Amino acid sequence: MFRAAWTRTQIKVIFAPNLHWRDFDLKSAIEKKMKLPVHVANAAIACLLAQLTFHQVEGNGDAVLITASEGLGAAIFLNGSIITGHDGMAGEIGHISIDPQGPECACGQRGCWEVFASCQAALRYFRKLQPDHRSVTFSELLSLAEAGNAHADAALTRQAREIGGGLRLIVAALSPEIVYIAGEMTSAWHRYRPTIDKTVRSTTMAGTPPAIVPIPDGDIARLRGAAALVFQRRPLIRPRAAAPWRRDSGRTFRTLQ
Ligand SMILES: [Zn+2]
Repeated sequence: MFRAAWTRTQIKVIFAPNLHWRDFDLKSAIEKKMKLPVHVANAAIACLLAQLTFHQVEGNGDAVLITASEGLGAAIFLNGSIITGHDGMAGEIGHISIDPQGPECACGQRGCWEVFASCQAALRYFRKLQPDHRSVTFSELLSLAEAGNAHADAALTRQAREIGGGLRLIVAALSPEIVYIAGEMTSAWHRYRPTIDKTVRSTTMAGTPPAIVPIPDGDIARLRGAAALVFQRRPLIRPRAAAPWRRDSGRTFRTLQ
């Protein structure tokens, strides 16, 4: 899966900053090669669909799902609907600039939330703290922190603080009851939870802060999301061929058109 937006009518990638893709008809390109029907959604929406399809959503269900990996994506579920917005660009909260003087982002702006809070950002923090260390992957960074490397621990803590700090934008704008977090970092959730919870609590203006809930299994969450997308788009393999989609709980929600 990838992070990208799509148009409502053409279902093509219109901007995928980390891949440097613009206006690319990915669906048709894959269909041509595979000779199979293809369904396209960005990773955050796919993960949110999986959560809505395969799991119970607590409370009134207003939720935002954040995917933290090479970038930072978001999917929004409010009042029973997934919000896609004009041209499918809703949820690009990772590209809200929080520091106009900050590092350059793949989208062309400076200081976007994702350049401070993504897994790439954690690797950058580590490189700065320990420049003589060999290049590591994010998975290796997690292992280093578990092995007691203080710089790795500090890099992950900084990432957690930045994630929590950026969530204030979501809480202030949308006031969700739940914020789901998906991505490889959830395998080390014990490292992230205290800092994220504390930062969100301290930056929530009023009212009850949202519950911050990790989605386990890292990248598998994306694959599960791809399955949910196919179940939604292929009526013949739905348990019940009715729209809107009905979950086992009996509650309904509107999804993508
Ligand atoms: Zn950006």
